Amino acid sequence: MEELKLVKDNGKKSIVTVGDVKIGDGFLVIAGPCSVENENQINESALAVKKAGANILRGGAYKPRSSPYSFQGLGKDGLILLSNAGKLANMPVITEVIDTRDIELVCRYADIIQIGARNMQNYSLLTEVGKTGKPVMLKRGFYATVNEWLSSAEYILNEGNKNVILCERGIRTFETLTRNTLDLSSVALLRKLTHLPIIVDPSHATGRADLIEPMSLSAILSGCDGLMIEVHPTPNEALSDTEQAISTEAFAMLMGKIENTVEFKKTI
Ligand code: PEP
Ligand code: MN
Repeated sequence: MEELKLVKDNGKKSIVTVGDVKIGDGFLVIAGPCSVENENQINESALAVKKAGANILRGGAYKPRSSPYSFQGLGKDGLILLSNAGKLANMPVITEVIDTRDIELVCRYADIIQIGARNMQNYSLLTEVGKTGKPVMLKRGFYATVNEWLSSAEYILNEGNKNVILCERGIRTFETLTRNTLDLSSVALLRKLTHLPIIVDPSHATGRADLIEPMSLSAILSGCDGLMIEVHPTPNEALSDTEQAISTEAFAMLMGKIENTVEFKKTI
Protein backbone atom coordinates (compact mmCIF):
# COMPACT_ATOMS: atom_id res chain seq x y z
CA MET A 1 0.00 0.00 0.00
CA GLU A 2 3.07 2.18 -0.15
CA GLU A 3 2.35 4.18 -3.28
CA LEU A 4 -1.30 4.66 -2.48
CA LYS A 5 -2.54 7.88 -0.93
CA LEU A 6 -5.93 9.05 -2.11
CA VAL A 7 -7.69 5.66 -2.18
CA LYS A 8 -6.68 4.77 1.36
CA ASP A 9 -9.23 4.38 4.10
CA ASN A 10 -9.53 7.69 5.92
CA GLY A 11 -12.31 6.72 8.29
CA LYS A 12 -14.97 8.26 6.05
CA LYS A 13 -16.68 6.24 3.32
CA SER A 14 -17.06 8.17 0.08
CA ILE A 15 -20.47 8.58 -1.44
CA VAL A 16 -20.88 9.10 -5.17
CA THR A 17 -24.06 10.97 -5.99
CA VAL A 18 -25.77 10.46 -9.34
CA GLY A 19 -29.15 12.17 -9.56
CA ASP A 20 -31.25 10.78 -6.69
CA VAL A 21 -28.95 7.79 -6.25
CA LYS A 22 -26.19 7.79 -3.65
CA ILE A 23 -23.63 5.08 -4.29
CA GLY A 24 -21.99 4.07 -1.02
CA ASP A 25 -24.91 5.15 1.15
CA GLY A 26 -27.20 2.14 1.45
CA PHE A 27 -27.40 -0.80 -0.93
CA LEU A 28 -28.20 -0.43 -4.62
CA VAL A 29 -28.55 -2.45 -7.79
CA ILE A 30 -27.38 -1.64 -11.31
CA ALA A 31 -29.10 -3.74 -13.98
CA GLY A 32 -29.63 -3.96 -17.71
CA PRO A 33 -28.37 -5.76 -20.77
CA CYS A 34 -24.75 -6.38 -21.66
CA SER A 35 -25.22 -4.39 -24.87
CA VAL A 36 -27.76 -1.91 -26.13
CA GLU A 37 -29.16 -3.74 -29.18
CA ASN A 38 -32.18 -1.72 -30.31
CA GLU A 39 -34.78 0.71 -28.97
CA ASN A 40 -37.30 -1.94 -27.95
CA GLN A 41 -34.76 -4.11 -26.16
CA ILE A 42 -33.28 -1.30 -24.07
CA ASN A 43 -36.62 0.35 -23.28
CA GLU A 44 -38.17 -2.96 -22.25
CA SER A 45 -35.12 -3.74 -20.10
CA ALA A 46 -35.18 -0.30 -18.48
CA LEU A 47 -38.86 -0.40 -17.55
CA ALA A 48 -38.63 -3.97 -16.24
CA VAL A 49 -35.55 -3.47 -14.06
CA LYS A 50 -36.96 -0.21 -12.72
CA LYS A 51 -40.24 -1.93 -11.84
CA ALA A 52 -38.29 -4.64 -10.03
CA GLY A 53 -36.48 -1.97 -7.98
CA ALA A 54 -33.13 -1.42 -9.72
CA ASN A 55 -31.53 2.00 -9.17
CA ILE A 56 -29.27 2.43 -12.21
CA LEU A 57 -29.58 1.20 -15.82
CA ARG A 58 -26.60 -0.36 -17.56
CA GLY A 59 -26.04 -1.03 -21.27
CA GLY A 60 -22.92 -1.20 -23.43
CA ALA A 61 -22.60 0.91 -26.58
CA TYR A 62 -18.88 0.32 -27.10
CA LYS A 63 -18.15 -3.34 -26.44
CA PRO A 64 -14.59 -4.53 -25.78
CA ARG A 65 -15.04 -7.99 -27.34
CA SER A 66 -12.38 -10.66 -27.23
CA SER A 67 -13.08 -11.47 -30.89
CA PRO A 68 -13.08 -8.77 -33.59
CA TYR A 69 -15.93 -10.67 -35.30
CA SER A 70 -18.29 -10.43 -32.31
CA PHE A 71 -20.94 -7.69 -32.01
CA GLN A 72 -19.04 -4.49 -31.18
CA GLY A 73 -21.96 -2.38 -29.97
CA LEU A 74 -24.00 0.38 -31.59
CA GLY A 75 -21.61 3.21 -30.68
CA LYS A 76 -23.20 6.67 -30.64
CA ASP A 77 -26.64 5.29 -31.58
CA GLY A 78 -26.40 2.99 -28.57
CA LEU A 79 -25.53 5.91 -26.29
CA ILE A 80 -28.58 7.82 -27.47
CA LEU A 81 -30.88 4.81 -27.03
CA LEU A 82 -29.48 4.17 -23.54
CA SER A 83 -29.87 7.77 -22.47
CA ASN A 84 -33.46 7.86 -23.77
CA ALA A 85 -34.29 4.60 -21.98
CA GLY A 86 -32.87 6.03 -18.76
CA LYS A 87 -35.13 9.07 -19.12
CA LEU A 88 -38.10 6.84 -19.91
CA ALA A 89 -37.59 4.80 -16.74
CA ASN A 90 -36.28 7.75 -14.72
CA MET A 91 -32.93 6.12 -13.95
CA PRO A 92 -29.32 7.26 -14.24
CA VAL A 93 -27.33 5.27 -16.80
CA ILE A 94 -23.88 3.69 -16.89
CA THR A 95 -21.96 2.68 -19.99
CA GLU A 96 -18.39 1.78 -20.87
CA VAL A 97 -15.82 3.92 -22.62
CA ILE A 98 -12.95 2.09 -24.30
CA ASP A 99 -11.18 4.91 -26.14
CA THR A 100 -10.05 8.37 -25.02
CA ARG A 101 -11.47 9.76 -28.29
CA ASP A 102 -15.01 8.83 -27.20
CA ILE A 103 -14.90 10.26 -23.67
CA GLU A 104 -16.56 13.57 -24.51
CA LEU A 105 -19.40 11.87 -26.36
CA VAL A 106 -19.95 9.24 -23.65
CA CYS A 107 -19.98 11.97 -20.98
CA ARG A 108 -22.76 13.73 -22.88
CA TYR A 109 -25.07 10.71 -22.65
CA ALA A 110 -23.99 8.78 -19.56
CA ASP A 111 -24.26 9.55 -15.85
CA ILE A 112 -21.51 7.11 -14.90
CA ILE A 113 -18.58 6.04 -17.06
CA GLN A 114 -17.46 2.43 -16.84
CA ILE A 115 -13.85 1.42 -17.32
CA GLY A 116 -13.86 -2.27 -18.18
CA ALA A 117 -11.58 -5.04 -16.98
CA ARG A 118 -9.58 -4.97 -20.21
CA ASN A 119 -8.76 -1.30 -19.72
CA MET A 120 -8.08 -1.23 -15.99
CA GLN A 121 -4.43 -0.47 -16.65
CA ASN A 122 -4.98 1.83 -19.64
CA TYR A 123 -3.41 4.77 -17.86
CA SER A 124 -4.15 7.39 -20.50
CA LEU A 125 -7.84 6.41 -20.36
CA LEU A 126 -7.77 6.57 -16.54
CA THR A 127 -6.14 9.99 -16.58
CA GLU A 128 -8.60 11.38 -19.11
CA VAL A 129 -11.72 10.12 -17.29
CA GLY A 130 -10.16 11.53 -14.14
CA LYS A 131 -10.09 14.97 -15.75
CA THR A 132 -13.82 14.87 -16.56
CA GLY A 133 -14.91 14.78 -12.90
CA LYS A 134 -17.75 12.40 -13.93
CA PRO A 135 -18.50 9.37 -11.76
CA VAL A 136 -16.32 6.48 -12.91
CA MET A 137 -16.82 2.80 -12.12
CA LEU A 138 -13.50 1.00 -12.40
CA LYS A 139 -13.75 -2.75 -12.96
CA ARG A 140 -11.01 -5.05 -11.76
CA GLY A 141 -8.70 -6.42 -14.46
CA PHE A 142 -8.71 -10.22 -15.01
CA TYR A 143 -5.15 -10.52 -13.74
CA ALA A 144 -4.98 -7.54 -11.44
CA THR A 145 -4.08 -7.76 -7.79
CA VAL A 146 -6.07 -5.66 -5.35
CA ASN A 147 -3.09 -3.35 -5.06
CA GLU A 148 -2.82 -2.86 -8.83
CA TRP A 149 -6.55 -2.20 -8.98
CA LEU A 150 -6.31 0.42 -6.23
CA SER A 151 -3.32 1.99 -8.01
CA SER A 152 -5.50 2.41 -11.09
CA ALA A 153 -8.19 4.08 -8.97
CA GLU A 154 -5.47 6.33 -7.59
CA TYR A 155 -4.78 7.56 -11.17
CA ILE A 156 -8.37 8.77 -11.48
CA LEU A 157 -8.45 10.35 -8.02
CA ASN A 158 -5.10 12.01 -8.68
CA GLU A 159 -6.73 14.05 -11.47
CA GLY A 160 -9.07 15.55 -8.88
CA ASN A 161 -12.01 13.24 -9.61
CA LYS A 162 -13.37 12.01 -6.28
CA ASN A 163 -16.27 10.10 -7.85
CA VAL A 164 -14.69 6.68 -8.16
CA ILE A 165 -16.49 3.37 -7.62
CA LEU A 166 -14.78 -0.04 -7.67
CA CYS A 167 -16.36 -3.12 -9.28
CA GLU A 168 -15.23 -6.67 -8.53
CA ARG A 169 -16.04 -8.77 -11.61
CA GLY A 170 -14.02 -11.89 -10.99
CA ILE A 171 -10.45 -12.82 -11.85
CA ARG A 172 -9.00 -15.49 -14.09
CA THR A 173 -7.91 -18.64 -12.28
CA PHE A 174 -7.30 -22.28 -13.29
CA GLU A 175 -11.05 -22.93 -13.05
CA THR A 176 -12.77 -23.44 -16.39
CA LEU A 177 -16.38 -24.21 -15.45
CA THR A 178 -17.02 -20.60 -14.51
CA ARG A 179 -16.01 -17.69 -16.74
CA ASN A 180 -13.96 -16.17 -13.92
CA THR A 181 -13.64 -16.73 -10.18
CA LEU A 182 -15.59 -14.27 -8.06
CA ASP A 183 -13.14 -12.95 -5.48
CA LEU A 184 -15.31 -11.95 -2.55
CA SER A 185 -12.35 -11.78 -0.22
CA SER A 186 -11.26 -8.72 -2.20
CA VAL A 187 -14.52 -7.03 -1.22
CA ALA A 188 -14.04 -7.70 2.48
CA LEU A 189 -10.41 -6.61 2.15
CA LEU A 190 -11.22 -3.43 0.24
CA ARG A 191 -13.56 -2.44 3.04
CA LYS A 192 -10.47 -2.22 5.24
CA LEU A 193 -8.18 -0.60 2.68
CA THR A 194 -10.27 2.05 0.96
CA HIS A 195 -13.11 4.53 1.40
CA LEU A 196 -14.38 3.96 -2.14
CA PRO A 197 -17.78 2.32 -2.77
CA ILE A 198 -17.60 -1.29 -3.99
CA ILE A 199 -19.96 -2.98 -6.45
CA VAL A 200 -19.95 -6.70 -7.27
CA ASP A 201 -20.74 -7.99 -10.77
CA PRO A 202 -21.75 -11.67 -10.48
CA SER A 203 -22.60 -11.82 -14.21
CA HIS A 204 -19.08 -11.47 -15.63
CA ALA A 205 -17.65 -13.19 -12.57
CA THR A 206 -19.48 -16.46 -13.24
CA GLY A 207 -20.66 -16.28 -16.86
CA ARG A 208 -23.66 -18.42 -15.84
CA ALA A 209 -27.24 -17.27 -15.38
CA ASP A 210 -27.88 -20.05 -12.85
CA LEU A 211 -25.17 -18.76 -10.52
CA ILE A 212 -26.29 -15.12 -10.38
CA GLU A 213 -28.62 -15.58 -7.43
CA PRO A 214 -26.29 -17.44 -5.04
CA MET A 215 -23.36 -15.18 -5.89
CA SER A 216 -25.47 -12.02 -5.52
CA LEU A 217 -26.61 -13.05 -2.07
CA SER A 218 -23.07 -14.09 -1.07
CA ALA A 219 -21.70 -10.76 -2.32
CA ILE A 220 -24.10 -8.87 -0.09
CA LEU A 221 -22.70 -10.65 2.95
CA SER A 222 -19.15 -9.83 1.89
CA GLY A 223 -19.97 -6.18 2.53
CA CYS A 224 -20.36 -4.61 -0.92
CA ASP A 225 -22.39 -1.45 -1.56
CA GLY A 226 -24.28 -2.87 -4.50
CA LEU A 227 -24.53 -5.29 -7.38
CA MET A 228 -24.40 -5.00 -11.14
CA ILE A 229 -26.43 -7.68 -12.93
CA GLU A 230 -26.94 -8.36 -16.64
CA VAL A 231 -30.62 -8.67 -17.51
CA HIS A 232 -32.16 -9.21 -20.96
CA PRO A 233 -35.83 -9.42 -22.01
CA THR A 234 -34.99 -12.50 -24.13
CA PRO A 235 -31.66 -13.85 -22.81
CA ASN A 236 -31.34 -16.55 -25.49
CA GLU A 237 -31.35 -13.88 -28.18
CA ALA A 238 -28.83 -11.55 -26.52
CA LEU A 239 -26.13 -10.37 -28.94
CA SER A 240 -23.46 -10.55 -26.24
CA ASP A 241 -22.95 -12.54 -23.04
CA THR A 242 -26.05 -14.64 -23.62
CA GLU A 243 -25.15 -17.41 -21.12
CA GLN A 244 -24.98 -15.06 -18.16
CA ALA A 245 -28.02 -12.87 -18.84
CA ILE A 246 -31.04 -13.45 -16.63
CA SER A 247 -34.59 -12.72 -17.76
CA THR A 248 -36.54 -9.75 -16.46
CA GLU A 249 -38.78 -12.23 -14.57
CA ALA A 250 -35.79 -13.93 -12.91
CA PHE A 251 -34.43 -10.49 -12.03
CA ALA A 252 -37.68 -9.50 -10.32
CA MET A 253 -37.57 -12.71 -8.26
CA LEU A 254 -33.93 -12.09 -7.35
CA MET A 255 -34.72 -8.54 -6.27
CA GLY A 256 -37.25 -9.95 -3.80
CA LYS A 257 -34.51 -12.10 -2.28
CA ILE A 258 -32.04 -9.21 -2.22
CA GLU A 259 -34.57 -7.08 -0.36
CA ASN A 260 -34.93 -9.82 2.22
CA THR A 261 -31.17 -9.95 2.69
CA VAL A 262 -30.16 -6.30 2.89
CA GLU A 263 -31.80 -2.98 3.67
CA PHE A 264 -32.48 -1.58 0.29
CA LYS A 265 -33.48 1.89 -0.80
CA LYS A 266 -35.95 1.64 -3.62
CA THR A 267 -36.17 4.69 -5.81
CA ILE A 268 -39.66 3.83 -7.05
C1 PEP B 1 -19.36 -5.33 -19.16
O1 PEP B 1 -19.65 -4.89 -18.04
O2 PEP B 1 -20.17 -5.42 -20.09
C2 PEP B 1 -17.99 -5.85 -19.41
C3 PEP B 1 -17.51 -5.94 -20.64
O3 PEP B 1 -17.37 -6.23 -18.29
P1 PEP B 1 -15.82 -6.59 -18.01
O4 PEP B 1 -15.06 -5.38 -18.41
O5 PEP B 1 -15.84 -6.84 -16.54
O6 PEP B 1 -15.51 -7.82 -18.81
MN1 MN C 1 -21.31 -8.28 -20.64
